[in-house]
Formats: sequence, structure tokens, C-alpha cells
Amino acid sequence: MYNKMEAIRHEVMKCTKCELSKTRIKSVPGKGNFKSDVIFVGEAPGKNEDLNGEPFIGIAGKRLSMALDEAMVSRDDIYITNIVKCRPPKNRVPTTTERSTCQEYLKQEISIIKPKIICILGNTAFNSLLGGSEIIKHRGRVVRKEEQLYFLTIHPAATIYNQDLIKVLKSDIIKLFKIITEIKDGIDIQVDFDYTP
Ligand code: SF4
Repeated sequence: MYNKMEAIRHEVMKCTKCELSKTRIKSVPGKGNFKSDVIFVGEAPGKNEDLNGEPFIGIAGKRLSMALDEAMVSRDDIYITNIVKCRPPKNRVPTTTERSTCQEYLKQEISIIKPKIICILGNTAFNSLLGGSEIIKHRGRVVRKEEQLYFLTIHPAATIYNQDLIKVLKSDIIKLFKIITEIKDGIDIQVDFDYTP
């Protein structure tokens, strides 16, 4: 598992498959515990991440850490990544082409880690993985698609501009880890939307 994840990391670091490779400083592979029960998926690296090559180390990352602290979970226990691994100029939303080009890396991360649940952070990840929109209306819910469970919540960056949303993020993350405990205990969890045919 370690070797496979290292191979993806190296591929991402030298990747030039899309236009974002021309403007990035460093590409930002996923990071964390390869045996995690949960993969967090955000939108794209920001300025600090681009400079350092690590995901969620800026203000948004601190907000996520605050929410994890509230759930008594360490960053070392989770795996975190983004839909696209390179920073879009001026933090614009990645285009459909950039997202679909980069998605192969995410698919590989998911297939190696095999998380019990994927935590979708914000609209871009929601749209890219499940075709959804308006995550604020759907946050806190569980979705099943092709046997994979997803949990929906806001992007931590949203809490920077709206302080009230930090409470929302914290309560969602607490709920997420309660759900993970239930899954591990073999309890049937409530699935709000099931895309399974
Ligand atoms: S965003 Fe993804 S596909 Fe595009 S260059 Fe970076 S790693 Fe490659």
C-alpha cells in the first residue's frame, strides 16, 4: 500500500497532464494515514499549499483541524486530498476539464485506501464526485453510490467568511465520526440518498 501511494505521490509531483501545471509552484498530493477509515476531499490547493506542496495547511486547514479536535480526531488519523492537485490561478474554481483530467489520481487514492466513507468538503467536490450542487442544503447527509458511502459537508474555507459556519462544520464532523463508529460496530446507518441501482 505504501509503495502504491508513494508512486501516486511521485506521479502527481511531476504531472503535466493539464494546464494547471504551467502556473503551479508545487503540486499537492494527498496526505495522511493510508489506513484511514475516511478520505476528506476538498476542491484544490490554495496559496500556502502551492508554496509548500502539502494539502490543507492554510487557514482552511486550521478550520478543519479545529473541527477534528472537536470530534477528538487527529489529523494523523485521516487522509486528505483534493479534486485537483495543483492550484488554479487566483484560486478560481477548477474547470471541468482540469477536474476530469486529475480525477484519475483520486480514483487511485480511493481504490488503494478503500475508505469506509468519503467526506466531501464543499460544492466542487460534491459536483465532481456526485454531480450535486448547493451543498449547504445537503450538508450532514449520507449518500451511497456504487457501494461507496459519502458524507456531505461544507468546505472549511467557507467558515473564514462566515463565522457562524464553524459551528456547522464542527457538528458535521462530529456526526461523521459517530457514523464511522457505527459502521465499524456493524450498525446499519441511515443513508439519505442511495444512487445504487
Ligand atoms: S491538476 Fe492534476 S492533472 Fe493537472 S497537472 Fe496537476 S496533478 Fe496533473
